[in-house]
Amino acid sequence: MPNLPEIKKEIDKFRQEIDYHNYKYYVEDNPVLSDAEYDRLMRRLSALEEEYPQFITPDSPTQRVGAKPAKEFASVRHLTPMLSLANAFDNEELLAFDKRVKKILELVENKDCEYVAELKIDGLAVNLNYTRGVLTQASTRGDGLEGEDITNNVRTIKSIPLKLRKPGQEDLPQVIEIRGEVYLDHKEFARINEEREKQDGPVFANPRNAAAGSVRQLDPAVTASRKLNIFVYGVGAVTGKKFETHWETLQYLKSVGIKVNEVKKLCRNIGEAIAFCHEWDKQKKKLPYEADGIVVKVNEIVRQNMLGQVSRSPRWAIAYKFAPEQAVTRITDIIVGVGRTGALTPVAVMEPVEVSGVTVTHATLHNEDEVRRKDVRVGDTVVVQRAGEVIPEVVRVLTEKRTGREKEFIMPKKCPVCGSDVFRAEDEAVARCTGIACPAQVKERIIHFASRNAMDIEGLGQAWVDIMVDKKLLADPADIYYLEKDKLLDLERMGEKSAANLIAAISESKSRNLSRLIYALGIRHVGEHIAEVLTEHFLSLEELSKAGQEELEKIQEIGPAIAASIVIFFKQDETKTVLSKLNRSGVKLKQERKPKGKQTLAGKTFVLTGGLESVTRDEASRMIKDRGGRVTASVTKKTDFVVVGTDPGSKYDQAKKLNVKTLNETEFKKLIGEKS
Ligand code: NAD
Repeated sequence: MPNLPEIKKEIDKFRQEIDYHNYKYYVEDNPVLSDAEYDRLMRRLSALEEEYPQFITPDSPTQRVGAKPAKEFASVRHLTPMLSLANAFDNEELLAFDKRVKKILELVENKDCEYVAELKIDGLAVNLNYTRGVLTQASTRGDGLEGEDITNNVRTIKSIPLKLRKPGQEDLPQVIEIRGEVYLDHKEFARINEEREKQDGPVFANPRNAAAGSVRQLDPAVTASRKLNIFVYGVGAVTGKKFETHWETLQYLKSVGIKVNEVKKLCRNIGEAIAFCHEWDKQKKKLPYEADGIVVKVNEIVRQNMLGQVSRSPRWAIAYKFAPEQAVTRITDIIVGVGRTGALTPVAVMEPVEVSGVTVTHATLHNEDEVRRKDVRVGDTVVVQRAGEVIPEVVRVLTEKRTGREKEFIMPKKCPVCGSDVFRAEDEAVARCTGIACPAQVKERIIHFASRNAMDIEGLGQAWVDIMVDKKLLADPADIYYLEKDKLLDLERMGEKSAANLIAAISESKSRNLSRLIYALGIRHVGEHIAEVLTEHFLSLEELSKAGQEELEKIQEIGPAIAASIVIFFKQDETKTVLSKLNRSGVKLKQERKPKGKQTLAGKTFVLTGGLESVTRDEASRMIKDRGGRVTASVTKKTDFVVVGTDPGSKYDQAKKLNVKTLNETEFKKLIGEKS
C-alpha cells in the first residue's frame, strides 16, 4: 500500500521547489537551476501526479503557464491564451505524441498526419497586437491569460514592424495577435555580459534570461540599448482573415513583413519530423543564437481545433528538447563563493574538460541541498553539462568510479570571505553570510543602506558607492558618517557643490526614524514592515540587539526564521563595531513612542492602487497605519477598502470583481478625517 500522506508531502515539496524556480526564472529572470535540471524536477512531479491524480490541484505548476505579471507593469489580457508546450526528450515520446494525435483525430494508425517542424528559439514569448496593421500593444506571456504591458520597450526592437506590410491586394486583418520569441544572439549576449562584468554587475545566466531582462525593463532606453531580435511562429486571435494550415500562417506572417525563422520543414509524417529534430540537434551549434529544441505542430488548423488543449499546453504541438552537451571529468575541490547579496554557493573545481567547444574548470553546485541530493564529493568522477548556460553544472556522480577516498562537502559555518557566521533559514535552500562589512557584499549593503526607503541619502547611489568602496573610503555602512569633504573632493568628477550636498544629505539622514535604520541594516527577512514592528516594540537599537529568540518570537508577525536571523545578525562582532560607529557619529538609534492617535481604522484592511494627488502612497499608508488600519498588497475578500488613484492597476478590477468597496482620493481623506 502506498503511503499516501507521504506521497502528498513529496508532491507538495516538488511544487514548492518548482514554484520557487518559476519565480526566479519568470519574475526575476535570474534562475538558480539549469533548464535541464528544472525539466527533470517537473517530470518527476508530473510522473507523481499521473500516478496519483487525486492530488492534482489547479494551482500545481504542471497545470499553469509561467507566472503572474509582475506588479511593476500594467497587465494586459490576451484575447486568446498563450500556452506552454509539452516536452518530448526522445523518439519514443515523439511517436507517442503522434499516436495520441491520431487517436483523437480518429485517423487509422498507418495513415499519416502532416506536421510542421520548426526551431524552438530560447527567448521570451511575446504577443504583438496589430490593429488594422498598426502595432497597438505588446505584452509578455505572463501566466498565459494575462501578460505584462511592454509596448514601449517592444517598439524599440528594430525587427518588429510598427506597421505591417500589405500582402498584395488583400486588406490586413482588423485585429491580429502575432506570437513570437524575442531573443538575443550569442554575440550581443556576450557583449551585454562583458559590459555588466566591467561595471561589476551580476551577469545574466543565459541569453534567454538576458533577453527577458532586457524586455522587462521599466526604462525603454535600456531595452533600446540592447540589440534584441524576434522570430514569430504563430497567431492568437485573428479577425478578418482565415488560415487553413499552420504552414500557410507562417508564409503569411513573412509576407506582412515580420521575421519568421527559416529553419522549418513541412513534414508528411512524424518520421520526417523526427529526422528533422535529429538533424538540428547536430547542427544547432552553427546557429548564431540559442535554440533549445524543435517544435512539432499539427499542420491543419481544423485538426488543431479538434485536438484542443489540456491545462497548460495545446494537444496539437510538442517541443522536442535538444540534449544538453555533456562531458566526464573529476572534481578536485569544492570551494564556496560569496555573492553580492551574501549567498554562499558551492562550486566544483574540476580537471579541465571541453564541453560544447568551451573548456570548463568550474561548475556550480547551486546550494548545499543540491550537493547532498546529488551526493557530490571531492574526488568524484562526474558528468558535467552546458545547456546554453554560461555556467556549467554537475549532472551526476559516476559512483562506480569511487575509490573510497572521496571527501564529503561541508558547508562552512563561517563566511570564507569575512569570517562572520553563516545563516540559513529553515525553509530556504541558500545559506548566507551575515557580515555587515563582508567585502563580498559591502557595496550592495551600502547601496541598500543609503537607498530611498532606508536612510534616504540623496546622491549616494550605486556609481559613487562603487567608487568610494574601491578607493577604500567606505568599508561598511557606518563609514558613510565619517566621510570628509576634502577626501570626497579628491575623487574624480566630484565637484565642490556635489561634495557639499552629499555631506549635508548624510548629516540630515542621522535623524531618520529608527525603523528606517533597522531596515537599512539589511538584516535578512527584515523588510520595511518588520522594521516598523520591531521599532514599535523595542524603541531602541540597543534593546533590539539584546533580544533573544524567544522574546522576538512572542511579537506578533515575527516568526522563528525572522527571529533567528535577527539574533545571529546582532551576535556578529562586525555588527557591534558598526553599531558603535553609528552611535559615535550621532545617528539616532532610539525612537520616542509616538502618542497614539485615535484608532479609527482599527481592524480595517486597505489596498492602494494608482497615483494620489495630494499625498504619496507611502504617506497614505502611514496615515492608515497611524489610525490602526492595515495596508496590504493584494485585494482579497477580506479587504475592506481599495483606495483608487489615477491610472489604477489590476487591483481595481479585482476590487470590482470581489465587490470590495472602492474610495477615490476625496472619499479616502474624508474617511481618515482630513479635508481634501
Ligand atoms: P517552453 O519554453 O519549454 O515552451 C513553450 C514556449 O516555447 C512558448 O511559450 C514559446 O515562447 C516558445 N517557442 C519558441 N519557439 C517556438 C515555436 N517555434 N513555436 C511555438 N513556441 C515556441 O515552456 P515554458 O513554459 O515557456 O517554460 C518552461 C521551460 O522553461 C522549462 O522547460 C525550462 O526549460 C525553462 N524554465 C527553467 C527554469 C529554471 O529554473 N531554470 C524555471 C522555469 C522554466
